[in-house]
Amino acid sequence: MPDLVAVTFDFWDTLLQAPDAAVVRAIRAERLLAALSLAGLDVDPSAVLGALGEVVKEFNRRWGANEQYTYLDAVEFVVHRIGVTLTPELHERLVTAFCGKELPQLPPLAPNVVDTLIYLRAKGIRIGIICDVGLSPSMVLRSHLDRHGILDLFDHWSFSDEVGCYKPDPRIFEHAAAGLGVVPEQAAHVGDLRRTDIAGARSSGWFAVRYCGIHDDHDENAGPEGDAVVRDHADLPDVLGLG
Ligand SMILES: [Mg+2]
Repeated sequence: MPDLVAVTFDFWDTLLQAPDAAVVRAIRAERLLAALSLAGLDVDPSAVLGALGEVVKEFNRRWGANEQYTYLDAVEFVVHRIGVTLTPELHERLVTAFCGKELPQLPPLAPNVVDTLIYLRAKGIRIGIICDVGLSPSMVLRSHLDRHGILDLFDHWSFSDEVGCYKPDPRIFEHAAAGLGVVPEQAAHVGDLRRTDIAGARSSGWFAVRYCGIHDDHDENAGPEGDAVVRDHADLPDVLGLG
């Protein structure tokens, strides 16, 4: 790849290790129940947990259909499911409880990713993020990067809740290319999922690298294979011709 100018990274299971879904659901349930209790509402914990399970299913359905689904939709769904009457104040409290910034544990960085980002930058490569945002909004994801001290290593961000579509939609890759000032032939994307990261990058004319160091998406039915596959971010410079 002699003309490479920019590299973008997926967020979960590429830059940071995604937290366990059951743990996140339990934390959200606890926070929502505390907010409801503050408002004098005594709600069955299993009803909240059940609603949060439904929310994840609904998110996955909408994600696959490329229809935006955010934490606000999730809160609305939970409120409807448990049947409480909302005041503006309670709505605010529930939203804050649902997407609270501070997890008890900051999700860990992928091994060797920081050294690799620093190396690529030293080679003059522009660095971006292309991320399908789940139920934690991009403001929370940015704060995770900030708490790890690496927010400044990125030149541009394309978060789906700010762009308005999910990978593999070419518009989110165009958003990233425009922000980084490159054409597709000058860009590579690194991510773990075939359906979104790899299919999206390849169909947009980017060089696609599948990172399998945290989650190995070996299901060939899910989408195409990357132009390269790395298990360790330390191997990225070599496959990008920058070693
Ligand atoms: Mg991912």
